Amino acid sequence: MVIVMQKAAPEEKIERVMAELTRRGFDVHRSTGADQTVLGVVGDVASIDSREFELFDGVQEVVRVSEPYKLSSRTFRPENTIVKVNGCGIGGKEVVVMAGPCTIENEPQLFETARAVARAGAKVLRGGAWKPRTSPYAFQGMGIEGLKLLRAAGKEFGMATVSEVMEISQIEPALEYVDIIQIGARNMQNFNLLSAVGQTRKPVLLKRGMSATIQEWLLAAEYIMAGGNYQVILCERGIRTFETYTRNTLDISAIPVIQKLSHLPIIVDPSHATGRRDKVMPLARASVAAGADGLLIEVHVDPDKALCDGPQSLYPEDFVHLMDELKIIVPAVRRTLG
Ligand code: PEP
Ligand code: MN
Repeated sequence: MVIVMQKAAPEEKIERVMAELTRRGFDVHRSTGADQTVLGVVGDVASIDSREFELFDGVQEVVRVSEPYKLSSRTFRPENTIVKVNGCGIGGKEVVVMAGPCTIENEPQLFETARAVARAGAKVLRGGAWKPRTSPYAFQGMGIEGLKLLRAAGKEFGMATVSEVMEISQIEPALEYVDIIQIGARNMQNFNLLSAVGQTRKPVLLKRGMSATIQEWLLAAEYIMAGGNYQVILCERGIRTFETYTRNTLDISAIPVIQKLSHLPIIVDPSHATGRRDKVMPLARASVAAGADGLLIEVHVDPDKALCDGPQSLYPEDFVHLMDELKIIVPAVRRTLG
């Protein structure tokens, strides 16, 4: 249930409604917009007679939200959520590019890749330190030593950092080294992990599970937001379909669908979506044209020697080329390149 306060309702009227809801045992999430405050009410809302709250002074209307997700829905927050990272606003006018290797392998590999992507215009450096590998025999990542390198490379080249955590115990150590915590596709429904990142106040990049519906994805975001962490960035990374030519099938339609249903920013990862370097650039262009708020792209200084996802990693010169193309596409969709 959502309670929409009147425009310019005074603070004490808003607080009176919140206090009554809290007294009755509901969780209240407040969204303060430019000219209106909206209260998201979570709990056994079926027991509320909406007329009681409609009669409260300062209340404009009480809306029963039919979707099962509430805090992530546009009804709760009509304006876009803008997640601020490294002087950029993800979900605002800017299109923000995040790039880097699939996995952090060693210092020269990371620093050389970081230098190249920063020079080309990436604002956030990616790199996995704990890797969800399909095979237990594949390289599993450098762990905390990798995160230290990631932070150092980000600092050196003026980029924020994003890296994945796979379990609750990794959150605390990661907080020091990352600006955005990534939850991978395989963990999109790891509800305990989602609740735990919801207790932090770090931005979270939530990848779509490879067989998750949009509703399941928004409910996963809801787990994070229910803990009070509203800084969630959704990332479409391709879903499994009957098509085997590409690693996954990029669901471009998820971009406008999410933008209708939710206020959260949505970015696209064309690298995991296609699994093939030659398909990454066209899909990156299409994603931005369709309205994505950013891109997450794998780039490796020497993809042929990469320990993970080499075939889908761009060469640094490809990435420069892509950024040049984005300089044309981004203004055409009335955005700016972050
Ligand atoms: C990644 O970004 O490194 C990754 C493993 O992606 P996904 O969770 O989308 O497979
Ligand atoms: Mn990868």
